Amino acid sequence: MLGQMQNHPLLISALITHAERHHADGEIVSRRVEGDIHRTDWATLAKRSRQVANALDADQLPAGTRVATVAWNGYRHMELYFGVSGSQRVLHTLNPRLHPQQLAWIINHAEDTVVCFDTTFTPLIAAVHSKCPTVKRWVALCDADKLPADSGIPNLVSYEGWLAAQSSNYRWPQFDENTASSLCYTSGTTGNPKGVLYSHRSTLLHAYAAALPDSLNLSARDAVLPVVPMFHVNAWGLPYAAAAVGCKLVFPGPAMDGKSIYELIEGEQVSLAAGVPTVWQMLLGHLQAGGLKFSKLNRTVIGGSACPPAMLTTFQDVYGVEVLHAWGMTEMSPLGTACTLKNKQLALDDAGRLKVRLKQGRVVYGVDMKIVDGEGKELPWDGRTYGDLLVRGPWIIDQYFRAEGDSPLVDGWFPTGDVATIDADGFMQITDRSKDVIKSGGEWISSIDVENVAMAHPAVAMAACIGMPHPKWDERPIVVVALKPGAELSRDDMLAFYEGKIAKWQIPDDVVFVQSIPLGATGKMMKVSLREQLKGYVLPGV
Ligand code: AMP
Repeated sequence: MLGQMQNHPLLISALITHAERHHADGEIVSRRVEGDIHRTDWATLAKRSRQVANALDADQLPAGTRVATVAWNGYRHMELYFGVSGSQRVLHTLNPRLHPQQLAWIINHAEDTVVCFDTTFTPLIAAVHSKCPTVKRWVALCDADKLPADSGIPNLVSYEGWLAAQSSNYRWPQFDENTASSLCYTSGTTGNPKGVLYSHRSTLLHAYAAALPDSLNLSARDAVLPVVPMFHVNAWGLPYAAAAVGCKLVFPGPAMDGKSIYELIEGEQVSLAAGVPTVWQMLLGHLQAGGLKFSKLNRTVIGGSACPPAMLTTFQDVYGVEVLHAWGMTEMSPLGTACTLKNKQLALDDAGRLKVRLKQGRVVYGVDMKIVDGEGKELPWDGRTYGDLLVRGPWIIDQYFRAEGDSPLVDGWFPTGDVATIDADGFMQITDRSKDVIKSGGEWISSIDVENVAMAHPAVAMAACIGMPHPKWDERPIVVVALKPGAELSRDDMLAFYEGKIAKWQIPDDVVFVQSIPLGATGKMMKVSLREQLKGYVLPGV
């Protein structure tokens, strides 16, 4: 017997229609590459999204056409989010921080037909366009009179000129909710990047889940600043969840430095900001240097890499900002877990609560997870036993784009490549990426634990722990440290700082000081580059 309820497909166009109808004057504020602050609202954004859809129709692009973006976070990027997917095309967000060769490889693999880019990236597009034969139209995200002159880019139009020719009357098509909506390639630290093709259904279910109180707790009363780029897993789904709840949105554009982010948070009375630890490090540095405070910010979502304890306590104890530590991946849309406490943990003392808050958290309903040993046997949830973390759920990848027939799943579960523990209350803690864990004398050392201690030292700006070959122990950890400007620290003082903070055998064998730690395209430490940089390094006494 079938249920007798209405069967509306879950489509991205319904989100923008809802935001327009119920939150018409809700603000969307963007710092632009032009240097100014631009203001619009949900009603205008919805209208212009329909113009985008009409422009794509005018170009006679069939359903499923890949329309790519190379853009910062801003209102035009949002219009493309809804106009492209809503009209049954696929929004492909490209990461501009990739090497031009890699970018061209991805454009060709995805067979992008249109590429829309911020004018900051004109030199990048000028360098790659001749290698991208599938692209029929290049759109510079600017006013008609600001089109880059003499760029040599063929079939180039300005976004505003492209839209101006179009009506804002458009009826969003209705289609199967399993239709592809957007495409994002993983950062691909080994081998070629892999495409993750989201559907309308997966995106809407993820948006509902992300807004829940024990997830990001979003409401119409929030002003949300996604510092996490819209080219990195759809800015963690925030554009969609924001449309669902009708909150104010604040976009940082290209300015991600501490001063610019602080000014935006204060100027726009941001209540929730989301980003990776490296961004918050710059922001906290700016606050500390200027003796500044926040007036309205009450939550930060920190994910993408482990949140160092020192960052969590500084946000909470010094600035009164609650840290929501979250974990996920491109293959998971990305939200998997968020660390919000149950009553039981709220009753703990400060130290007990901090210990829990540093974990990556509990699954958001919709995601299921387990840890397994090398043979695939499920391991206990005791908070101590660590194993490979596997996940499944309706917004988790089934197969990579154009790799059909080659399933990444193991018995229906997706192996995340992370190593984790899960405690009896379901709080998961990442101990490492499986390829970064240090195997010393049959025991595993978590590189994250070693890094966290170093990062708590006031002289340290960033620290990376990597394993080095050792004849007796297989591997021993070293810590690579970049100091804060003007700070001084000796090797011995760094090592002494570890005493009593982690087990003796987990203390690194050596400290290597560097100017800076290489960061990848999404702000994560690039341990592969670091290992290359340290080629020829030999542990003391070996
Ligand atoms: P990406 O697909 O580029 O977003 O990378 C996903 C990977 O980032 C995960 O598999 C984790 O290794 C790492 N990651 C994401 N969030 C966290 C977190 N809160 N703590 C530790 N690692 C994280």
